[in-house]
Amino acid sequence: MTKTIALLGSTGSIGRQTLQVARELGLRVAALTANTQIDLMEQQAREFCPELVVMMDGGAAKELRGRLSDLPIRVMAGAEGLMEAAQLPQADTVVTAVVGSVGLRPTLAAIEKKKRIALANKETLVCAGELVMAAAERCGAEIVPVDSEHSAIFQSLQGCRDRGEVHRLILTCSGGPFFGMSYEELEHMKPENALKHPNWSMGAKITIDSATLMNKGLEIIEAMRLYHLPVSKVDAVIHRQSIVHSLVEYRDGAMIAQLGTPDMKLPIRYAFTWPYRAETPDRRLNLLTCGDLTFHAPDMEAFRCLKIARECAEVGGTSCAIMNAANEEAVLAFLRREIGFNDIHRRVEDALSAVEVKYQPCLEDILEADSLARMAVLNR
Ligand code: MG
Repeated sequence: MTKTIALLGSTGSIGRQTLQVARELGLRVAALTANTQIDLMEQQAREFCPELVVMMDGGAAKELRGRLSDLPIRVMAGAEGLMEAAQLPQADTVVTAVVGSVGLRPTLAAIEKKKRIALANKETLVCAGELVMAAAERCGAEIVPVDSEHSAIFQSLQGCRDRGEVHRLILTCSGGPFFGMSYEELEHMKPENALKHPNWSMGAKITIDSATLMNKGLEIIEAMRLYHLPVSKVDAVIHRQSIVHSLVEYRDGAMIAQLGTPDMKLPIRYAFTWPYRAETPDRRLNLLTCGDLTFHAPDMEAFRCLKIARECAEVGGTSCAIMNAANEEAVLAFLRREIGFNDIHRRVEDALSAVEVKYQPCLEDILEADSLARMAVLNR
């Protein structure tokens, strides 16, 4: 059970919900990190009195240091601060709720310190899943997923004594705001159309990833790495209601699923209390009023990102890191209105043909693939 957390990414959607759970469970907070949101960070720091606060932005760190000068809180800036937060001896659990591949190094550092990793940063496993899982095994660090689908699978695997009994994993997918649209219709979609997600409230990057279905592609790779399965054993189905959070199908045909309201606080809470469960103060799922549960096959011709992700999963090596970094940059360009919706997958495909894939990569190969892919998108 978790007692003290270091929370990387405390002002984002997962970060704020993590602090709600921390309040509810009475957890101590040793470190908080954020990019630029200084007002919210000041408020969080005053409430939780961590020993360390990190702002990725140097100017924001300087200003916050002044504002918090009445408290015994260290304020650090940038990547160095993030690494320090990930390794603080006071914390037994590190919550990685930062967005993007910037989460990779601090996650590895926390693993080396044998922390429990409450993993909410899927890009880390997509880029460097094999390295991260091998490090966790070597160091004896527990990785408990916070992503709702992977938490559902993790919960459905409790009691499974032999991974060989797993026939396949089935990730559910809300389908996003553009479910049912053709490729041609998608061409005209703008950021404001994509930012209206039907079921979950999330940050901008993941909301766009949900609209392109790249989010599900990233999650398929995340699931492969977490559970050591080939892509052929990981499927995705569209489930518009977001009630069934994912399933494990066993070799005897049994399907074990986790159901619940679409609320990230359940997987966050479970990451802290596992292998136990705590009482929820939140609304419970009512089967009598939740309506029909429906399932559809995803349209991989319209939503090309999902197809690309499956192909990269098959290829392996640095291809997933290239895809992920190119997607991060393409999503930012879409949010800045520089490119259209379908250009996101085109930019990712361009990067995949521009950057050479390396097999059995080390950390440096992965970081290099990441930066080459970003350059391929930006210098186009
Ligand atoms: Mg998810």
